[in-house]
Amino acid sequence: MTNFVVKTKNMRLADLRTGESGIVVKVAGRGAFRKRIIEMGFVKGKRVDVLLNAPLKDPIKYKIMDFEVSLRRSEAALIEVIHESEIPSVSDDAVLPEKAKIDTDELLHAYALQKGKKIRVALVGNPNAGKTSLFNAITGAHEHVGNYGGVTVDAKAQRFEHKGYTIQLVDLPGTYSLSSYTPEERYVRNYVQDNHPDVVINIVAASNLERNLYLTTQLIDMDARMVIALNMFDELEKSGDKFDYDLLGKMIGIPIVPTVSKYGRGIGELFDTVIDVYEERNPVIRHVHINYGEILEQGITQIQKMLHTCPDLGKNWSSRYLSIQLLEKDKDAEHFVKNLSIGDSVIDKRDEVCRQIEQLLQEDSESAFINARYGYIAGALKETYQVSKTEEEDTTRLLDAIVTHKVFGYPIFLLFMFVMFQATFQLGAYPLEAIEWAVAKLSEFVQNSMAPGALRDLITDGIIQGVGGVIVFLPNILILYCFISFMEDSGYMARAAFIMDKIMHKMGLHGKSFIPLVMGFGCNVPALMATRTIESHSSRMITLLVLPFMSCSARLPVYILLAGTFFPQNAGAVLFAVYATGVILSIITARLLRRFFFKEEEVPFVMELPPYRLPTWKSVAIHVWDRSRQYLRKMGGIILLASIVVWALEYFPREGDSFIVQLGNWLEPVMRPLGFNQNIGVSLLSGMAAKEVVVSTMEILNAVESLTPLTALSMMLFVLIYFPCIATVSAMHHETGSWKWTLLSVLYTTVLAWFVAFLVYQIGSFFV
Ligand code: GDP
Ligand code: MG
Repeated sequence: MTNFVVKTKNMRLADLRTGESGIVVKVAGRGAFRKRIIEMGFVKGKRVDVLLNAPLKDPIKYKIMDFEVSLRRSEAALIEVIHESEIPSVSDDAVLPEKAKIDTDELLHAYALQKGKKIRVALVGNPNAGKTSLFNAITGAHEHVGNYGGVTVDAKAQRFEHKGYTIQLVDLPGTYSLSSYTPEERYVRNYVQDNHPDVVINIVAASNLERNLYLTTQLIDMDARMVIALNMFDELEKSGDKFDYDLLGKMIGIPIVPTVSKYGRGIGELFDTVIDVYEERNPVIRHVHINYGEILEQGITQIQKMLHTCPDLGKNWSSRYLSIQLLEKDKDAEHFVKNLSIGDSVIDKRDEVCRQIEQLLQEDSESAFINARYGYIAGALKETYQVSKTEEEDTTRLLDAIVTHKVFGYPIFLLFMFVMFQATFQLGAYPLEAIEWAVAKLSEFVQNSMAPGALRDLITDGIIQGVGGVIVFLPNILILYCFISFMEDSGYMARAAFIMDKIMHKMGLHGKSFIPLVMGFGCNVPALMATRTIESHSSRMITLLVLPFMSCSARLPVYILLAGTFFPQNAGAVLFAVYATGVILSIITARLLRRFFFKEEEVPFVMELPPYRLPTWKSVAIHVWDRSRQYLRKMGGIILLASIVVWALEYFPREGDSFIVQLGNWLEPVMRPLGFNQNIGVSLLSGMAAKEVVVSTMEILNAVESLTPLTALSMMLFVLIYFPCIATVSAMHHETGSWKWTLLSVLYTTVLAWFVAFLVYQIGSFFV
């Protein structure tokens, strides 16, 4: 061991040549990528041999823990190692045992571990959040406190010891955001992005949380490993406000430590936490995605998908983060992407997505992202922060004070729901009659202009009767969708979810489950997909499994037909009651599931509270049009097909009992206790394809006549509860990823439907 060059720069795995070996010190980089590398065996202290590293070759082959792996050069550049040649500098470090004959490997190993105890920490925060004070408090330096924006773009570094670790702390210039508008912003962002500090301390002034946390949301997007120093905690205490920062930390997956950097309070705890995070033993750390709302998220996904196909993206970039930056029209990100092989098409796609966003939201996509971030922060603070004194109220606050009021919030919400169902029924009645008339005319016309025979019967009694019986409900469904999309777009849905949070907790869920549940009133399939915003697995599973109880709009025609026929005076109220029954069943089911199957504890998460805005006609129209298209497609597809099948089953064989009668006879023993005759049984069976088919089958079979108000009621409940349609079952399988749960759900709903209908009919029979 003679003549060594002491390396000043840290050596990276990519620097080792073929035949050389090194010991892993640490893995830089971020998130999932970093985790994967570590899982492959690149753990601190492990030996790596380079099997093949040709200067221009990519990937490089390594041997670690006796198996071979190949890494890309860009990946290998993120792994810090030490090389034998670094050992002499070790012998100066008194840390190593000075035994004469130590195995080189062992020595390297010990040195690597020691070197791994060096943590590079970057301080990031708004101007005047107290970074310099913190820096000075630790190091005893006397940097000038008080900041002048834009003067210096330069980082000061200090190193110190804490609990056996060497911490190298860099004080970065203060910034409000990480966009690339000002040199400071750009500097800080590049520093975090390219230098991979082991841990970022995001210093947040407690006196101005909303604005300070904005930067935090951007750091979350960057997927930086972070600890938040909640500075100026003294001022928070003085103000008398209550802030549950532990809960906030759990929501955003970042540990939060209160500090008063001016007086050096909390600094020890802060760096204890930094060490825990560095050593991956902090329980709070978790990578969350800020939810930017449906429209922006769709845009992000579109761009992300494209980036995933790009071979030369490199692992240094999170594709989600890059997509967000592109949509925010960030110049640096654009520049970076333009140099990629598929750069131009990505930019074209970006422009297209931005136009879509601007059309739908009526604001440019940059502002849309900014608003969504503030919405996220507002939601997080609303759940964790309590102001002691009353504040000035602007419109959003005023509206929020009313609709999220502890007492008035609920009746307002129920009233809104009630109005929604009333309108669905009553406003929908006018166009319904018109369409009914048109369908009858069409049938008459065919009847008169075609020669009698099977074909004519098929068209009039099968297709027109069946499809026409369902299509008349299109207006009702559109009205329902108008309401749902108004609630979503105006921001009221988020508030409704917010006030429902407490109730949802009682169900073992979270307010975030509420939006998919309400969407379920429209159609269960997109609602099942919407549960993806729920981060916790168990909450998501429960939400998925109870969703079929949310009565979708396909069931609406059945209710409208039956409620309109048998309860003409109170149709709206009956409708409301049926829906409410679904909700109650979902609550009971959720509680059972939480109690017996999904017991694990919940991670809290943030309910985004976007600012209120008046929905644009355009976006409501697009929403509604989208649904009507789907509905019409269903008419031309499964409902048409089912109508033909049902008609054929009734029409054939021409001699003796038709197939439908045989099928009905077969179902009869199961259906009789519910008060249903054969035709109702067959209608229900046909509804498994799609619930609207229940109506078309009833039309074809003239089944309504056999009902009474009581059996109509028990039938509505049966339709509410039993087997969700084929599309829902398939989506359920897709989203839960489990046949077991899907089949259980099918079985459970159908058996439950039978029992509820049974009880209603049997008990009801005593009274009527
Ligand atoms: P920087 O711009 O982030 O570097 O912030 P400075 O460290 O320059 O601090 C800005 C101002 O806030 C100075 O007047 C500090 O004295 C004050 N300050 C910093 N930390 C605290 C704290 O924890 N509590 C209180 N009350 N004031 C603080
Ligand atoms: Mg400063």
